[in-house]
Amino acid sequence: MYDAIIIGAGLGGLTCAAKLASNGKSVLVLEKLDHIGGTSYIFKRNGYIFPMGPLSFSFPHLVKKMLKDVGVKKEITFERNHFQLITPYIDIIYSQEWNEFKDKLRKSFKSDENGINACFDDFSSLFDAIKDIHEWNPEFLIGKKRNNAKKELTNYEKQFKLIDENNTLFSKSYLKSCLKDDTLIRLLGSQGSYTPIMSMTHLAFLWNVMSIEGIWFPSCGIHGMSDLLNDVIIDNGGEVRLNSNVVEILLKDSKAVGVKLASNEVHESEWIIVNADYKKTVLNLINKKEIPQKFLDRVINSRYTGSELSIYLGIDPSEVNFTKMRATHLFYRSKFDEKRENDPEYFENKEIEICDWSSKSPLFAPEGKKVLILRVSMPYEHFEHWKIGEKKRKDGYDEYKRSLANKMIKEVENILPGISNSIDVMEIATPLTYEDWGQRSYGSIAGWNRDMTKLYFKKKSLIENPFENLLNVGIYSFLEPFLGGVPTSIYSGCLAADYILEKNER
Ligand SMILES: Cc1cc2nc3c(=O)[nH]c(=O)nc-3n(C[C@H](O)[C@H](O)[C@H](O)COP(=O)(O)OP(=O)(O)OC[C@H]3O[C@@H](n4cnc5c(N)ncnc54)[C@H](O)[C@@H]3O)c2cc1C
Repeated sequence: MYDAIIIGAGLGGLTCAAKLASNGKSVLVLEKLDHIGGTSYIFKRNGYIFPMGPLSFSFPHLVKKMLKDVGVKKEITFERNHFQLITPYIDIIYSQEWNEFKDKLRKSFKSDENGINACFDDFSSLFDAIKDIHEWNPEFLIGKKRNNAKKELTNYEKQFKLIDENNTLFSKSYLKSCLKDDTLIRLLGSQGSYTPIMSMTHLAFLWNVMSIEGIWFPSCGIHGMSDLLNDVIIDNGGEVRLNSNVVEILLKDSKAVGVKLASNEVHESEWIIVNADYKKTVLNLINKKEIPQKFLDRVINSRYTGSELSIYLGIDPSEVNFTKMRATHLFYRSKFDEKRENDPEYFENKEIEICDWSSKSPLFAPEGKKVLILRVSMPYEHFEHWKIGEKKRKDGYDEYKRSLANKMIKEVENILPGISNSIDVMEIATPLTYEDWGQRSYGSIAGWNRDMTKLYFKKKSLIENPFENLLNVGIYSFLEPFLGGVPTSIYSGCLAADYILEKNER
């Protein structure tokens, strides 16, 4: 009997396990795949190193503090990454310091100067309100910490009220009420060229991440953080088992008591922590008869963020003209055809992210070479019909995805001339890849949907659920990744571990 079994060795699961293990608890981490780290890991091809998921993340100081707190001793430093948008109407680096960004917009959109001032003031008030939100707002806490935060809430009444009001204020209507220029509304409303869909609070979280806290890359690599957490678990007597697929969470009177593996092995534990995505946990791992209907409906009806088509390229940079790329991450869109915004293969009409991955670490490419990653949103439904089983596809899938990749590279050729002839290695990931290798339902990338009309939960933290001694961690354990993806996952792991430690104190 273990103190805690953790299903999944993603960042949320590893953090929780490391914190429990370093506090003397016996832990068993069961991971379905043959590697730790979940989506926060890397894969190798012909001397190139590619990321499975995250490319960089925010809140470096908080991440450093949380890793130290769970037992990671290695010093990690961070390097800031910047983000650029190029469309026919704008070429801007939008990740710079908030006031510099404002001045730049005021110069470029003179007729909207007053609107920009008003808008930036409102965002600034929201940034003040959400500052350290994970420390004082009960909605982002559980257990004793939440109870204490509730008692102290009178000190934060103003912030709480502002956040609450902006939770139900659509950014699209707000931005349209103060700004005229469509390019500006799209930029401030989506951090890109799309129509805004988020609430103002959610949008403030994103700009806080992009501009105030910044987006950074750690010296150990994102996969390195998973390695360090794994070491803490092992050094403290914990176990991490790979190729261990949990197929059922065992419940007794609505209380989690153990897990069953695909091999039929059963393990008992006082606590079960799930790092698998939320829909998968509820819809696949728990006996339907045990699930309260209202909760089940919420899980079924609430939507995730969409998926992506990603192209991983090992290239010879001497063949490519990089003059237009001024940041590590460039988002490029060459056409605006609103009537065809839902056409998944009309790449000219979509934002393509181009990431200069190997600029983050010289280890990622052989000497003199470079790694570029091209990513574009892609609906799962567009690929679903190719799937005939887990990691099994109909004939023609490889040719089809290659033809799409070539189409996308042709489009990128307009901004990075020479890229087509520079390719040494190419790997392609589709929504099916993210579903089967990333283990995310529908190949979802970034947690729950950003459009609040597609969510039916009444609370922000989903770490607790209707079952006793069962906790969720990872990016899906919060309705909004309010610190950004990676930090939110790590934070959820810390919170869940503290909750267990506090319950066991009694
Ligand atoms: C393509 C992509 C790009 C991203 N880019 C960014 C970015 O740039 N910045 C950022 O901050 N975030 C980004 N994210 C989000 C980021 O992945 C997450 O925030 C973070 O890595 C997720 O951690 P997690 O704890 O949710 O676990 P996950 O990485 O989802 O890992 C969950 C683990 O659980 C395992 N598991 C699932 N089911 C079972 C089972 N039944 N039995 C055993 N094990 C199981 C899985 O195999 C997996 O290893 C990106 C995600 C993807 C997919």
